[in-house]
Amino acid sequence: MILPQDALFREEAERFRLRWHCEDCALFDPEGERCSHGYPSERHRAARYEDPEAELLFCKEFTLF
Ligand code: SF4
Repeated sequence: MILPQDALFREEAERFRLRWHCEDCALFDPEGERCSHGYPSERHRAARYEDPEAELLFCKEFTLF
């Protein structure tokens, strides 16, 4: 699902400490900088969301530590 990232989302993400990036996922291999299940990770990485206009894309396989 792709959603626009608006000011309300950014405020709530900060307030509720939302996690959805690969770097917060138990399946992320930080040494290889890749998804250990082989999924494309470019659009889920934290750096992508430094752009406040970046559309939100959530990974169905995200697994919180
Ligand atoms: S399962 Fe999804 S969120 Fe987790 S590392 Fe792989 S691509 Fe990233």
